Amino acid sequence: MNILVINCGSSSLKYQLINSESEAVLAKGLCERIGMEGSCIKHTPSGKDKVTKETPMPDHTYAIQAVIDALTDAEHGVVKSLSEIDAVGHRIVHGGEKFAKSVVITDEVLDAIAECNDLAPLHNPANLIGINACKKIMPGVPMVAVFDTAFHQTMPEKAYMYGLPYEYYEKYKVRRYGFHGTSHDFVSARAAEILGKTREDLKIIVCHLGNGASISAVDHGKCVDTSMGLTPLEGLIMGTRCGDIDPAIIEFIAKKENLSISEINTIMNKKSGVEGMSKVSSDFRDLSAAMDQGNALAKMALETYTYRVAKYIGAYAAAMNGVDVIAFTAGIGENDGRVRSMTGKYLGYLGASIDESKNNVHGDEAIISNEGDKVTVMVVPTNEELAIARQTASLVK
Ligand code: AMP
Repeated sequence: MNILVINCGSSSLKYQLINSESEAVLAKGLCERIGMEGSCIKHTPSGKDKVTKETPMPDHTYAIQAVIDALTDAEHGVVKSLSEIDAVGHRIVHGGEKFAKSVVITDEVLDAIAECNDLAPLHNPANLIGINACKKIMPGVPMVAVFDTAFHQTMPEKAYMYGLPYEYYEKYKVRRYGFHGTSHDFVSARAAEILGKTREDLKIIVCHLGNGASISAVDHGKCVDTSMGLTPLEGLIMGTRCGDIDPAIIEFIAKKENLSISEINTIMNKKSGVEGMSKVSSDFRDLSAAMDQGNALAKMALETYTYRVAKYIGAYAAAMNGVDVIAFTAGIGENDGRVRSMTGKYLGYLGASIDESKNNVHGDEAIISNEGDKVTVMVVPTNEELAIARQTASLVK
């Protein structure tokens, strides 16, 4: 089966066409500036160069049409016609408490996703627009929703409740949900597979360190805790998000700087994290280079970042009463040996350490702990699109 994987944002749309039998990516690409001047599609057929085409995309329906045109194009296409696309898998950010696994999209599912809009006002409405655009352009093609939150639905109450009046949970479902679930699921399963074991026999901590970052505790195959919360703002320090802070800081800064809550929210999401702390960049390559040149704030940001990662690892080892595997993934986790190494320095008490001779890994699967260590530390590249394609194929078969 050929599965079209769609990740739809408010003004952009990422896609991959994946053959579910061979798991080969036939083509991938990105539509940018949807609904704006200068919209374009960047399309990369497997093994060929990227083609960029400017084309008007007043809305997402035009963007989906541009994707189909690119995939079936006589020169740059990878299939002859729409009939060779067997199903569509949509990444959906928030499934609330309604979705604990992926589902085939029906009208009832669309309504239930819309009911979660309040929980992810920037993402879910855009995801729904993507689904409706596909329905128009590809009527009759089965579609599956894969939720970022679903894998974390196994968390026990003690892990997902906040210390707030219970009525906010009753009225508005204010609780911790967690995100990057598709990645935590994929990486924990793959880590076990690499070790020749099943996930059901292991206690695994997955460190998804990308521009957004989260950690999860996967105890015998089930997520029992994760660092993101009601929104992706909680937990680790990220590229531009602050992660955990004292909530009283919000009122304090609001008064000092004469800012609204919504303005502070933007600052916490877009101007904080290692970028805000270092005044250098959200990109860890820039941060590392600045630290090497003696930039004290870049060093402080990296030290604070890795200290926070190590504290969460310690917390999750406690939550699971032990840990067998620590897996690093996503842009930073897969590529940044320095971050892995700085984090590893805190883990000796767990029986985990990093063998620096194995730590020069960039995007490959690898075991990087020392031989004989109690805990296996690994690099396991994530592949959310493949995970979505697999789940879509299994549900529409
Ligand atoms: P992601 O959100 O998973 O795509 O991760 C993106 C982030 O990964 C970038 O913002 C960088 O901070 C980081 N990154 C990507 N490549 C490298 C690299 N080679 N070394 C260090 N960090 C990297």
